[in-house]
Amino acid sequence: PGNLLVGVGHDVTRLHEAEQALRRAHDELELRVEERTAELAQANQELRSSEARYRLLMEQAADAILLLAPGGRFTGASSRACELLGYSPEELLQMSILDLVRPDPERTRQVGERLAAGELVLLEEEFRSKSGEWIPVEISVRRISDHEEQLIARDIRERRRAQEAREQLAAVLQATSDFVATAELAGALLYMNPAGRRLVGLGEQADLSQRTLAEFLAPATREIILREAVLGGTWTGEAALQAPGGQEIPVLMVASVHQRPCAGTQFMSVVAHDITQRKQLENVKDELVSMVSHELRTPLASLRGFAELMLTRDYAEDKRREFLSIIHNESKRLAELINNFLDLQRIQSGKQVYEFVALDAAELLGEAIRLFQPGNPQHRLELEVAPGLPPARGDRDRVRQVLANLVANAIKYSPEGGRVVLGARQEGGEVRMWVSDEGIGIPAEVLPHLFTKFYRVDNAVNRGIAGTGLGLALVRQIVENHGGRVWAESAPGKGSTFYFTLPLAEDARQAA
Ligand code: ADP
Repeated sequence: PGNLLVGVGHDVTRLHEAEQALRRAHDELELRVEERTAELAQANQELRSSEARYRLLMEQAADAILLLAPGGRFTGASSRACELLGYSPEELLQMSILDLVRPDPERTRQVGERLAAGELVLLEEEFRSKSGEWIPVEISVRRISDHEEQLIARDIRERRRAQEAREQLAAVLQATSDFVATAELAGALLYMNPAGRRLVGLGEQADLSQRTLAEFLAPATREIILREAVLGGTWTGEAALQAPGGQEIPVLMVASVHQRPCAGTQFMSVVAHDITQRKQLENVKDELVSMVSHELRTPLASLRGFAELMLTRDYAEDKRREFLSIIHNESKRLAELINNFLDLQRIQSGKQVYEFVALDAAELLGEAIRLFQPGNPQHRLELEVAPGLPPARGDRDRVRQVLANLVANAIKYSPEGGRVVLGARQEGGEVRMWVSDEGIGIPAEVLPHLFTKFYRVDNAVNRGIAGTGLGLALVRQIVENHGGRVWAESAPGKGSTFYFTLPLAEDARQAA
């Protein structure tokens, strides 16, 4: 038993030790649990506050924010998202992204792949709101965890509208034929539209910042325009643009100074309408007035002078005949001038009615010879027409007028006399006719101007020969109204040939 006792005593000691170890372990465990619990609580707290922060961010953002499960079902939506789309949060949670966009399976697949690869996907899209409006949005989507994606959508309606307004404005500026430019008040050009660049010869690639507005304004009015616009806010009037080579383009101009909306600084705009044509018309009118006053007065003065002479004194028969023939010639010239002028006005204004018929060129040329030969014994009028010429299509009286003008010129501008040949031949689908003379000829450089109204060659050999400069303008107008062409060839001192064409009567009929 002693042994036993000892043994028991020994056992008690070990039991005690075990118990203590157990207690320690328990305490340790307790401590750990406590620590862990605290840790967890802390983590939870942190999670909650970061979630709260995230929520706050989501609500504060100007953009719409949506949370989605992979595949597209919405799991959360900011109030801005609900506002933009017109759905309540509850409604949105029942929906998927595919309910908002136009169906496009291929695109959906591609976006899905990119999201799965962890990419940030940026797109321009249109979302259909609850009311059915398609809202343009710029979106960015990213997968933020295995089970969540975040989509941020920015409403770009305003941007689109501004862009559209800008594009419309640009289209108008592109299309207008007027000069439009803007510049800093200090001078540097900001913009010039295509028509403006064409007018002043500024290439499309030219660097505007290196150029100033002032260089494109003609010097005479430059200062006043810039000063008045700056002082008064705007300047309107006739001015001129400066084109390359010193050429000036007359324009009607509006120059204005504008306030920039934000920066508080100012810039200038210039809009200019090309009035070259109006100026040309004004010149023609001025010329006409001076022509009429000169060309009409001279023959009138001599008519009056010779008539007065004959009234105040008795002249011998031969003198009277001489005066009368002067009066006769001058009145013929006056009549020709007035008739040519009125004809030209009528034909140019489109009031002339043409009666197109089949014309035998040989017959018309022969008729002209019979008309002009008797009064012009110094000239030998000859006909040059190959047999079998098909008929041309034209208005008989107007073609007669063309021939009369050309033959009268051929005679008038060959004061020494000589041969005047009237010819015609077929050339493709046309009949070409010509009148050639052996007269004074025409310098090559003025050939292109001959057919312009009031144009007369002004040199020593022409000086003594009277005329109006209207005949060839009339010829051209008539020939062109027939669908033909007119031109001249000449060797100064040797003679000239005037050609014109008329369509074949046959061709014209077939074409019709
Ligand atoms: P004009 O009344 O002056 O003759 P036109 O229009 O008929 O007017 O002719 C214009 C100009 O062309 C003339 O002034 C003349 O200088 C030149 N011209 C016309 N025909 C001839 C010709 N056959 N030979 C030389 N010059 C001509």
